Amino acid sequence: MSSRTSTTSTNTLITNIASLVTNDPSLGDGSPLGLIQNAAVVIDGDRIAWTGEKSKAPATDNQVDAGGRAVIPGFVDSHSHLVFAGDRTQEFNARMSGRSYTAGGIRTTVAATRAASDEDLERNLVHYLGEALRQGTTTFETKSGYGLTVEDESRALRIAAAHTDEVTYLGAHIVSPDYADDPAGYVALVTGQMLDACVPHARWIDVFCEKGAFDGDQARAILTAGKAKGLHPRVHANQLSYGPGVQLAVELDAASADHCTHLTDADVDALASGNTVATLLPGAEFSTRAEWPDARRLLDAGVTVALSTDCNPGSSFTSSVPFCIALAVRDMRMTPDEAIWSATAGGAAALRRTDIGRITPGAYADLAFLDAPSHVHLAYRPGVPLVSQVWRRGVPVA
Ligand SMILES: [Zn+2]
Repeated sequence: MSSRTSTTSTNTLITNIASLVTNDPSLGDGSPLGLIQNAAVVIDGDRIAWTGEKSKAPATDNQVDAGGRAVIPGFVDSHSHLVFAGDRTQEFNARMSGRSYTAGGIRTTVAATRAASDEDLERNLVHYLGEALRQGTTTFETKSGYGLTVEDESRALRIAAAHTDEVTYLGAHIVSPDYADDPAGYVALVTGQMLDACVPHARWIDVFCEKGAFDGDQARAILTAGKAKGLHPRVHANQLSYGPGVQLAVELDAASADHCTHLTDADVDALASGNTVATLLPGAEFSTRAEWPDARRLLDAGVTVALSTDCNPGSSFTSSVPFCIALAVRDMRMTPDEAIWSATAGGAAALRRTDIGRITPGAYADLAFLDAPSHVHLAYRPGVPLVSQVWRRGVPVA
């Protein structure tokens, strides 16, 4: 940057943007990304006030020179699990070394999380949020799911809610080890006392609908109970195997069905005809050497696709949306334009938000500057830290 604005200013022009992604097809080139070359943006307080060609920009109090960089909306990471303690390095190392590993998986993280203090959990959360912010993520959703008791689930959500509005109750991550012989008793807890304790801190309710976790009937009971208390559903669906999760998500008008790796034609049709976004999480397939979700099949059917990190210590320990974009383009047959859209406007759709994930008048001024002339470089130059500056709510923050 050749100049910096004062954070107390209310009216700032960012000019000399080589290429601007607005995500508004009515702007710029008419594509879904609404690309504008040689662009400028005016920020008023925490909102975008104007976007267009720099030669047509209105007069403002302050001016920032983007130096010919590309500017995109800050990433909307609509799926993460960041309230946890401990790590699972040994599990990952064994998996990548071709050795079987019989430790507890999610249960390992549950034990460490229960044993951690509130301060330790929050310090860990803030650490990973800072890491994500420096890589361009300006909005994130995060979940409980490593407490699995009334007290541990509600404190996870309370800690998360201090840092984001997008908080998801995932008491139904796995059946608590305390209820190993009584899964029905655990579902009763998740839909009863635990739900009541968690509702004040959460916007969303989620369930891991999968063999070995919760079946379709259990998932329906859990999501329906949450809806009755004012939470909106989202579902971990069809990650490891075919199953009822995706169609249940669409039937209950879930905002998002997440993973979508094993889909029948009927699942794809349901997603295409409903309002449920398919959120793809390639960090999980990468970190478990699993089969990629078929993004091309979903996009060609007209499904709205979001791209997110699934950041968690077990199956996808990356906070990097640019990394997920590179995987989606290289291995899931998304175009660079589609991947950028899915990681910004797509994430916003998965959170049923229209005030983020776009650079249009009225949206929050959440921006990522790239040390590159175009957004395509995020896939073209994988692993390179191209995000050079991040603005959140109209203020440079990283
Ligand atoms: Zn997840």
